[in-house]
Amino acid sequence: MRVAILGAGPAGMSCANACLSFGLTPVVIEREDHLGGAQRSNFHPNLWLLGSPSESGQELTRRLVAHYVELQATTLLSTQVVGLEQDADGFLLRLHGARGHSDLAAGALVIASGMRPYATPELAVLARNSERVILGPLNDRIRDQVHDAHVLILGGGDNALDHALFLAERGNRIRVCTRGAFSGREALLAACRARAQIELMPHCRPTALQAGVAGVTARWIGTGARHYDWLLVMYGYRPNSEVVDSFAPELRPERLASGHLRVDAWQRTSVPGIYAAGDVTDNVQPAIPTAIAQGLAVAKAIERDWKAARQDGLPGRTLER
Ligand SMILES: Cc1cc2nc3c(=O)[nH]c(=O)nc-3n(C[C@H](O)[C@H](O)[C@H](O)COP(=O)(O)OP(=O)(O)OC[C@H]3O[C@@H](n4cnc5c(N)ncnc54)[C@H](O)[C@@H]3O)c2cc1C
Repeated sequence: MRVAILGAGPAGMSCANACLSFGLTPVVIEREDHLGGAQRSNFHPNLWLLGSPSESGQELTRRLVAHYVELQATTLLSTQVVGLEQDADGFLLRLHGARGHSDLAAGALVIASGMRPYATPELAVLARNSERVILGPLNDRIRDQVHDAHVLILGGGDNALDHALFLAERGNRIRVCTRGAFSGREALLAACRARAQIELMPHCRPTALQAGVAGVTARWIGTGARHYDWLLVMYGYRPNSEVVDSFAPELRPERLASGHLRVDAWQRTSVPGIYAAGDVTDNVQPAIPTAIAQGLAVAKAIERDWKAARQDGLPGRTLER
């Protein structure tokens, strides 16, 4: 049976690998022109994968991709799902890629589309208009441009604190400003407090921000305006679940208020035949090992459900499509 997998991050690639070992035929559809997902440009050492403590997210991703490309899996890069319908034999995906529109028939669909950095609409506009405004983590290309600079970080979680430490080590002065209390890990907070170059500002927000080619001007109550060479927005992440809006109404899986796809213990969504894995689901600890494990679990669930449907002679996902 053909399994269409949306997203070529750790969850999608792991699912493809496991599908092959369960006798399923994976087709991975990735909207970007590259494989690997969110960790592709993360130069920080990986925190959570037992067995590779000093490997960066980038190195780890290279290793996952090197394995994936050896698999007998079909990959469609720079391709988006623009519609999903169902007939008696399974799903029909409407795709749009570099060569225009095409259709793909599949017996099951896995959504493994991950998350993206969140920003308010105002900050998103600033980032569009100035290269000095970065939404989400620094990538390996930009990180070396930020030195001896004055950096404003908006956000109070692990990412904000982690970046403040990273930048302080490179001679930058950093103000970290969060609307409430800091929510990052205590160890990171303590390390930031110990650094003279890092100014931690809880319960604070700039009253206005203006961005240009040389950086950002922030206005503060009481202290007036200040110039920063860079603005980093670390407001957390939102699931990439909008793709389901393009599905026929009866095929749209249930979403939580957070936008994550609701799944059961077998990674099944509310729609039979549609599964989800990785950061697009509301898992307790979004991480590469979690995504890899959920990708594997999905493949097992599909194999199990497929066998059960064949035994029961159910119409629908019984054909070898
Ligand atoms: C700053 C930061 C640091 C982190 N550090 C660590 C760490 O040290 N260790 C660790 O284990 N984890 C870490 N994580 C978490 C880890 O990156 C994620 O948990 C993991 O990448 C999730 O994998 P995924 O496959 O679910 O999603 P992703 O890696 O986000 O991959 C999703 C893929 O789907 C594609 N896609 C999106 N929408 C569509 C669509 N509609 N159609 C087709 N394709 C689509 C995307 O382009 C992407 O390639 C970190 C995350 C961040 C943000």
